[in-house]
Amino acid sequence: MSEDTIFGKIARGEAPANIVYEDDLCLAFRDMYPAAPTHILVIPRKPIPRLCDATAEDQALLGHLMLTANKIAEQEGLGDKFRLVINNGEGAGQSVFHLHLHIIGGRPLKWPPG
Ligand code: AMP
Repeated sequence: MSEDTIFGKIARGEAPANIVYEDDLCLAFRDMYPAAPTHILVIPRKPIPRLCDATAEDQALLGHLMLTANKIAEQEGLGDKFRLVINNGEGAGQSVFHLHLHIIGGRPLKWPPG
């Protein structure tokens, strides 16, 4: 199902993106409508629609996505000042149904988010 999303197309090299990182399991690219000076999306190549669709089989992959986000934050010069966000489901603001982690940084971040 999520193979047909824009992120599935980007993962398969069928749609353009400003890619900042890629490996066998995931890739990361700049958000086209950035919410902060640095706004990058990390996605698995595997088309998992939402975080709640992940299973025990995905445990290592989910860890890999977070550690990759750390690496990208460092690469982007964010230091220890960044936020990771996963919107799960339409009611929580998810609009693209291919799992993605938002890395947001480069400005002061307030809590709680809206
Ligand atoms: P979410 O609302 O959590 O599903 O986040 C989807 C994000 O994807 C939003 O921040 C959009 O700005 C971003 N987005 C949508 N289409 C693209 C695209 N083709 N390239 C880069 N970012 C995109």
